[in-house]
Amino acid sequence: MTDQRLRKIVIVGGGTAGWMTAAALGRFLKDGHTQVTLVESEEIGTVGVGESTIPQIKIFNRMLGLDEFDFVRRTKATFKLGIDFVDWKTIGHQYHHPFGPYGVDMEGVSFHAYWLRLKAMGEAADLGEYSLQAVASAQGKFMRPNQQRNSPLARIDHAYHIDAGLYARFLRGYAEERGVRRQEGRIVDVHQRTEDGFIEAVTLQNGQRVEGDLFIDCSGFRGLLIEQTLKTGFEDWSQWLLNDRAVAVPCALGGSTQPVTRATARPAGWQWRIPLQHRLGNGYAYSSQHISEDEATAYLLAHLDGEPLIDPFTLRFKAGRRKKSWNKNVVAIGLSAGFMEPLESQSIHLIQVGISRLLAMFPDKRFETPDIDRYNRVMKFEYETIRDFLILHFHATRRNDTPYWDYLREMPIPDYLADKMAVFQSYGRVFRENEELFTDTSWFAVMVGQGLEPRGHDPMADVMADDELRARMADIHAVIARSAQVMPDHMRFIADNCAAA
Ligand SMILES: Cc1cc2nc3c(=O)[nH]c(=O)nc-3n(C[C@H](O)[C@H](O)[C@H](O)COP(=O)(O)OP(=O)(O)OC[C@H]3O[C@@H](n4cnc5c(N)ncnc54)[C@H](O)[C@@H]3O)c2cc1C
Repeated sequence: MTDQRLRKIVIVGGGTAGWMTAAALGRFLKDGHTQVTLVESEEIGTVGVGESTIPQIKIFNRMLGLDEFDFVRRTKATFKLGIDFVDWKTIGHQYHHPFGPYGVDMEGVSFHAYWLRLKAMGEAADLGEYSLQAVASAQGKFMRPNQQRNSPLARIDHAYHIDAGLYARFLRGYAEERGVRRQEGRIVDVHQRTEDGFIEAVTLQNGQRVEGDLFIDCSGFRGLLIEQTLKTGFEDWSQWLLNDRAVAVPCALGGSTQPVTRATARPAGWQWRIPLQHRLGNGYAYSSQHISEDEATAYLLAHLDGEPLIDPFTLRFKAGRRKKSWNKNVVAIGLSAGFMEPLESQSIHLIQVGISRLLAMFPDKRFETPDIDRYNRVMKFEYETIRDFLILHFHATRRNDTPYWDYLREMPIPDYLADKMAVFQSYGRVFRENEELFTDTSWFAVMVGQGLEPRGHDPMADVMADDELRARMADIHAVIARSAQVMPDHMRFIADNCAAA
């Protein structure tokens, strides 16, 4: 029987996607049979932004066996308990999207239902006051979960704000130690097999030919193999996600040191603020139909918490995804597979999903179609459900101060989102469908935060007597307030455990 195992894998691109993929392949393909080569061009460079993450990155880092504090030190990271959304429902309003749950479910009924019932009685505190993540982050507190059963301190979930360039460098070292070869050079030519169009090699500017059985396209927005060569096609989602530019600039530290990403809605887009140990990452993602580059840049510069450290730079993009993430022997991971603005810090996660699904559906030289089709179905579901969650933020708003918000409020939305909103609006129920990324906590946080008001609550919550409901909700509220008090200050926690050199 012929040996069908892959002998050569070529990763095209050395941004976050390329080095995360290289690190994972280096970790698992250690039998010496398969050579992994990563080609990157310093002349082209990387996108160089992408600093806010979600808790799933911990799974990836654990898979690689990274020590958490070492990772935080080397990427000059801070911790993140959630996202503060400012001015999204109306100007002046703010809510927190926490990673951990609200309160605790009781008698088999979700906490959300009890909160809605108490709210209808006119006695509920703000939803955020029942979330340890929201309360602690507002006070600038942070700690990792402890082992105390039944305590909200055991259910803290966190992510990081990282310097993406340092993360890629860290992973490069990791991958090279495990046998991944790095090849510097600009790819100028791509060679396809005549019989089936599979890619067999790329040629670098210096004439060197790099051959492969499997190619992983991490070449960024250009999609060098998946699009420029294979013409896979792109689904354009810009009718829902209008923003097509971002002006970015890091600035000196200043203002709050809370463990949160801040996303502030602006007249023609939104602004992010991402605290690292040594600087703040900032950017204004905006719609070029509604504001010029000069205006957006001036707006951003006028709304920083510290002195800019470099000149602002603008990135152009279009929301959407490649019609197939895997086409022939090319798997697109990262920006080459698709892009949605980083409103919920989901892009690095999508890289991670692309890698883990590739490992789960790892091919040999036969490249079986049913497996490739399954990979594409799973990735489509991931992208589309995240897309709809993002659209919710723009669409469920009461803002009417600019044509940008008027369009978003009035636009038709995808059916999946319309169904979720309709179900919420009847009894305030939310469900996590299949294995979609965002949990019912996330959907509930954003639906309530954006000002959606259900007509009623889950009737199952009516089984509890009024007095018992009041007492148990007050108890949850008090336990959360007390738990936040014992947590250390976020920056103190970093200084004590994982400060960058
Ligand atoms: C404005 C903005 C903000 C973002 N914020 C976040 C965030 O907060 N959180 C988050 O998770 N994600 C965020 N992202 C997404 C994140 O930046 C990307 O997912 C991540 O950087 C991965 O990029 P990449 O590796 O796919 O592409 P790139 O960084 O563009 O890397 C492409 C690589 O391909 C190489 N290459 C290209 N062409 C050739 C060629 N011809 N020959 C050789 N090499 C080539 C380049 O040299 C480079 O190494 C943001 C993105 C943008 C645009």
